[in-house]
Amino acid sequence: MKGKTGLIMGLANKFSIAYGISESLKNREADLIFTSQTEYFKNKISDIVSDFSNHEILLCDVSNDGDIDNLFDIISSKIGRLDFIVHSLAFSDKNELSGKYYDTSRSNFLNAMNISCYSFTEVCRNARKLMTDGGSIVTLTYYGSEKVVPNYNVMALAKAALETSVRYLAEDLGEFGIRVNAISAGPIKTLAASGVGEFSKILEYERNRSPMKRNVTQKDIGEACAFLLSDMSSGITGEILHVDCGSNIIGVKF
Ligand code: NAD
Repeated sequence: MKGKTGLIMGLANKFSIAYGISESLKNREADLIFTSQTEYFKNKISDIVSDFSNHEILLCDVSNDGDIDNLFDIISSKIGRLDFIVHSLAFSDKNELSGKYYDTSRSNFLNAMNISCYSFTEVCRNARKLMTDGGSIVTLTYYGSEKVVPNYNVMALAKAALETSVRYLAEDLGEFGIRVNAISAGPIKTLAASGVGEFSKILEYERNRSPMKRNVTQKDIGEACAFLLSDMSSGITGEILHVDCGSNIIGVKF
């Protein structure tokens, strides 16, 4: 990845999936730009990535009208181009990530869809202007979009819509040499994941179900993502790649 420049959206701390991805990209000598949702996170991110070369940290709250356009304008004037983007962010009110799905409020439904799904469309639309030599864009999803996982609730719908966006965006951007894919990551204990009710049970269940008898790690996701962002995956677009130690292949297990 030497000579390539990419944007990482969704790094909050060292437990973030985006951190595992950033480490894999750093090891391959990519130059990285990070976004931070708030000034508070910006200071934290700054400490975390202090040993990354040539990095920038730019503010972007994807729920604010204009923040994504503004982000890409800044990257355009400072750097001029991008080779890859990682969209590793999502949000739902924690109170609605337990109990019955039908109790989801209209406001949280719309907010979860806006932040976790629509933001990806807006990012991809802006990416076109900066990916003048083609590029690769990856977002993060979860198996709860395919099958019912207790408590995942509204986030499952947002991820299902996100996965469909991946296919439509891959079609829209293919003619510009831009590939769009998702990684369906197995469960990892992060800030966002700890908001899902009984998350430790999900971790345990997926570990037992995995043919490999373990949970996925940040490094597993990071390495797979580096592959999707690199030219090694040049023929892959519109795909949802499961990186979950095989747990999605198991139907019934005695
Ligand atoms: P995390 O808490 O480390 O990261 C979530 C990020 O979303 C944070 O950096 C947060 O600042 C950002 N975010 C939330 N609202 C935002 C907004 N309005 N504007 C900008 N940024 C915003 O958690 P994570 O688990 O690393 O999550 C990253 C992605 O991976 C999410 O899409 C999540 O759904 C997905 N995912 C997580 C798991 C898991 O088990 N952890 C599994 C599969 C997929």
